[in-house]
Amino acid sequence: MPSAAHCVTVIPGDGVGPEVVRSAIRVIEAAGVFIDWEEAAAGASVFEKGDTSGVPAETRDSIERTKVVLKGPLETPVGFGEKSANVTLRKLFETYANVRPARELPGVPTRYAGEGVNLVIVRENVEDLYAGIEHMVTPDVGQCLKVISRKGSEKVIRYAFELARREGRTKVTAATKANIMKMTEGLFKKVFEELAGEYPEIESEHLIIDNVAHQLAKEPAQFDIIVTTNLNGDIISDLASGLVGGLGFASSGNYGDSVAIFEAVHGSAPKYAGKDLINPTALILSSVMMLRHIGETAAADRIEDAVLVTLEEGHATTQDLVRQTGGDVDTAASTTGFTDAVIANLGRSPATLKARRVGAVDHAPAPPHAWSYGPEHYAAIERRTIGLDIFIETDSDAGRLGPELEGLAATGPFELRFIESRGTKVYPSVGLSSDGVRLLRARFVTRDGGAAAERDLLALQGRVAERQPGWTHIEKLHVFDGADGFTKAQGE
Ligand code: NAP
Repeated sequence: MPSAAHCVTVIPGDGVGPEVVRSAIRVIEAAGVFIDWEEAAAGASVFEKGDTSGVPAETRDSIERTKVVLKGPLETPVGFGEKSANVTLRKLFETYANVRPARELPGVPTRYAGEGVNLVIVRENVEDLYAGIEHMVTPDVGQCLKVISRKGSEKVIRYAFELARREGRTKVTAATKANIMKMTEGLFKKVFEELAGEYPEIESEHLIIDNVAHQLAKEPAQFDIIVTTNLNGDIISDLASGLVGGLGFASSGNYGDSVAIFEAVHGSAPKYAGKDLINPTALILSSVMMLRHIGETAAADRIEDAVLVTLEEGHATTQDLVRQTGGDVDTAASTTGFTDAVIANLGRSPATLKARRVGAVDHAPAPPHAWSYGPEHYAAIERRTIGLDIFIETDSDAGRLGPELEGLAATGPFELRFIESRGTKVYPSVGLSSDGVRLLRARFVTRDGGAAAERDLLALQGRVAERQPGWTHIEKLHVFDGADGFTKAQGE
């Protein structure tokens, strides 16, 4: 008897997408789950029609309705189309937690076989450098804004702790570069340390992201859940996939408060498109995550067990795995053949490793979180603006520019604190050398450290702009509750 109906948006995607999606749907149907699939388009075919978002309105409407997406990989064609359709989908539906399990699989040889690797990477999925706010500030200097918010950090960190609770995991590691980026990665670390106190039964630790990469390569079994910012997570989650057999096996879910999108980690692998050769395990395991999300846990367990039996017995092995084991690729199973084997194995139990039976709810999002701070919290923060950083494109040497800017500041409440080049103070000289790139930053602050009036800030800006038409942009310097909201220059 089919179980209760679910409605899911399915995006076959590009390249090998339709093949792996078809494979996952066949397995789900064979497991007895009845899903009403709403097929929708995104990616290359949409870009080709001139829709630069890559995600047409009908697809967005379908996802609004169904709230659940099973998706094949999407190409972002070079030459037309502005942004990646994948990133667009994640942002449109605010799927803020990208969850990527990496677990040792039977029959999949790796350097770590037998160590019991079983970790989950929870990657913040919408902020950070992926906000995509980039500018060429001079013809030769590009800049990308790294946006990290308390709210964005809190949502994904809370998600990671809640996931640990649901799965009975015992440790959450935050991975940041807070030692270098104190205002952004440092904020993520601070929020992690605050929230950790709400989960006393779960061990929490913070490690610098480069050390996490090192530890993952050295002793991956020490990790349980790793929560991290977007770019860090992008890189270490691919690293983690490599630890347990590679892209053919790497599943993922993108969770928001209302929408969840399930996809393999791999891309469209164009050279395999239409050849019935690609390994569908990654998307089948992503669909297992989807089934747990929609409450079909028994079917999820059955499918995961069937995949494990198939890998364990090795009777149907796709070419990627055959190559890893040094076998004859002519004997490799096709995508269809592997899928048939998984279906045939439904109902069987693996001998070595069982499905991750973790209760009724697996990776489903935490209940809508209460964000810690409301408007009254922000209203109570004592704040003052004490100056400006003005960025200037110039061929001028800092030794000449410095006295000129000091002269411009002399008539107001500000003084020139320093000029720096790519973060290193070059005026007044402290003996540090920096290879000039025609972009300098001049920091002006009030002489007494007090609040600057808006009209004085604008007047200073106007005076500098008049003499330095190469000024490119400005940042206000804030102090919040007595703490500087800006970093020092190297050598200051
Ligand atoms: P890719 O499509 O992931 O393929 C790179 C290589 O990884 C393949 O040639 C193959 O290696 C291996 N591979 C990928 N999937 C596999 C699977 N299921 N089974 C076995 N091996 C697999 O990466 P790409 O070539 O860099 O990207 C192609 C396109 O996909 C690009 O347009 C990119 O933007 C897009 N992409 C989309 C997503 C997404 O939708 N989430 C993610 C990544 C990339 P061998 O050649 O060694 O066999």
